[in-house]
Amino acid sequence: MICQRCGAEMKPAGKDTSSGRDIREYECSKCGHCDWEDQGEALWQILSNGRERDEAEKIDLASANGRDSAPESCEAEARTARSRLGRLRALIARLF
Ligand SMILES: [Zn+2]
Repeated sequence: MICQRCGAEMKPAGKDTSSGRDIREYECSKCGHCDWEDQGEALWQILSNGRERDEAEKIDLASANGRDSAPESCEAEARTARSRLGRLRALIARLF
């Protein structure tokens, strides 16, 4: 980073990610001017956002499965019952 005051190369003086942004601090060794640069989202912030997204997807998936599987299994059961009744009727019809 170039010092805005004297144009010299500034040296890194530290970083602060407590706000969720990766803020790099610089200090000019020539004139002592301090400045900072926003490097984007801090790594821990990106990771924690990712975890929140994963959790949300898992919940979405679970509720979607719940919605789909319940009526489907009822339907399948009803089909099985109907065909069993049909076979029984056919058997009875053959006997008499
Ligand atoms: Zn300077």
